[in-house]
Amino acid sequence: MRYSGLAVLAQGLTGNRGWRPAWRDPAPKDAYDIVIIGGGGHGLATAFYLAKEHGLRNIAVLEKGYLGGGNIGRNTTIVRANYGLPGNSEFYSHSLKLWEGLEAELNYNVMHSQRGIINLFHSDGQRDAYARRGNAMINQGDDAILLDRAGVRKLLPYLDYEQTRFPIYGGLYHPRGGTARHDAVAWGFARGADMRGVDLIQNCEVTGIDIEGGRVTGVQTSRGAIRAKKVGIVVAGRSSQVAAMAGMRLPIESHILQAFVTEGLKPVIDHVVTYGMGHFYISQSDKGGLVFGGDLDFYASYAARGNLPMAEHVMEAGLTLMPMIGKARILRSWGGIMDMSPDGSPIIDRTHIEGLYLNCGWCYGGFKAVPASGHTFAHLIATDRPHEAAARYRLDRFATGRGLMDEEAKGSQHNLH
Ligand SMILES: Cc1cc2nc3c(=O)[nH]c(=O)nc-3n(C[C@H](O)[C@H](O)[C@H](O)COP(=O)(O)OP(=O)(O)OC[C@H]3O[C@@H](n4cnc5c(N)ncnc54)[C@H](O)[C@@H]3O)c2cc1C
Repeated sequence: MRYSGLAVLAQGLTGNRGWRPAWRDPAPKDAYDIVIIGGGGHGLATAFYLAKEHGLRNIAVLEKGYLGGGNIGRNTTIVRANYGLPGNSEFYSHSLKLWEGLEAELNYNVMHSQRGIINLFHSDGQRDAYARRGNAMINQGDDAILLDRAGVRKLLPYLDYEQTRFPIYGGLYHPRGGTARHDAVAWGFARGADMRGVDLIQNCEVTGIDIEGGRVTGVQTSRGAIRAKKVGIVVAGRSSQVAAMAGMRLPIESHILQAFVTEGLKPVIDHVVTYGMGHFYISQSDKGGLVFGGDLDFYASYAARGNLPMAEHVMEAGLTLMPMIGKARILRSWGGIMDMSPDGSPIIDRTHIEGLYLNCGWCYGGFKAVPASGHTFAHLIATDRPHEAAARYRLDRFATGRGLMDEEAKGSQHNLH
């Protein structure tokens, strides 16, 4: 059914008895043309665009838990296109354009809010780096405004401008950046894929990948064997484990990233604010909670929960930037498993096994990438050619060293990206 204001009115007048489940709950078939492993944001978007853009229907998404239970429902919802390097720049620009039409495309309210992002800087060197990044954004056709201290103060009067350790010199303002409701994005893509005939199969863990003569032939799952002509691995923090089922060793380390939310408050923070020197960023959700986070927990782990020292560090950083949040009470904290690549940029590529495709390495930036990742990965799976917006996300760059995209200039240490 299509959602509309009229539908809400009609349902309201008839006791809301006509709403249907947003997607079916089918049993897995014996065989599909395409199997997508992982029902997170990227897997669901891939299935949606395979059906919508390429007219393919015989597709299953296999999810070991429930749809949206992974990082897609655990992130801090920031959507932006403020990358500087060729490769990343056009990809995230492509993604932001898809975001801007997403609600109409999905007929679903993902609460995309372009409230603007401000990356603060605290030294002359940082100002130079942000000026260069802003120019790259403008060259890509996106928006960027370099603010001085007074300009930041006008937009963010509640920051502590007296602190001496990391004094605020200014900020890079990206007005089209903002947030979206994370799990609504999963639900919207799930509904859109289901409407086009994709089978979304929950509680179905992939336990093995079948390969014969160098070609993928299907998968083993907790609900039986499923044959497939093509298989896409899109499992974020579990990428290394699932790829190992096909005998592959990925250049990925899994690390935990935590996030925190306070009790609901009246509107106080209008933008997304990042404070790189202190490892802290924050926005306010539509429910009023202050949503914030910081750095990775720094050790590799598959436990989707974080440690206390990092929680303390994030709170301290927040208080140095905006002491007013000291009065807010923390409601919840959680962690997600991040698929960290050595250069901080993702992988969207074929593998050496025919019919087996890989999408991973999203680090802590994969939410904003969801539409473009699904769009370009679907293109790769359907046509066997990389989409031009994702052509540089090759797996072999880690073997050859050619084409590495180290956006943060951190070197090849996974947990620093
Ligand atoms: C605290 C936190 C804050 C973040 N903040 C931001 C942000 O502000 N902006 C941003 O752009 N990004 C952010 N991210 C990153 C972003 O959430 C991730 O990069 C992105 O969600 C990962 O892709 P996904 O949605 O497909 O992952 P997931 O939702 O994790 O999907 C992968 C799915 O694969 C399933 N799976 C795994 N193994 C198997 C198997 N064997 N068989 C079947 N299914 C399997 C999992 O159950 C899971 O549902 C953040 C992440 C965290 C944790």
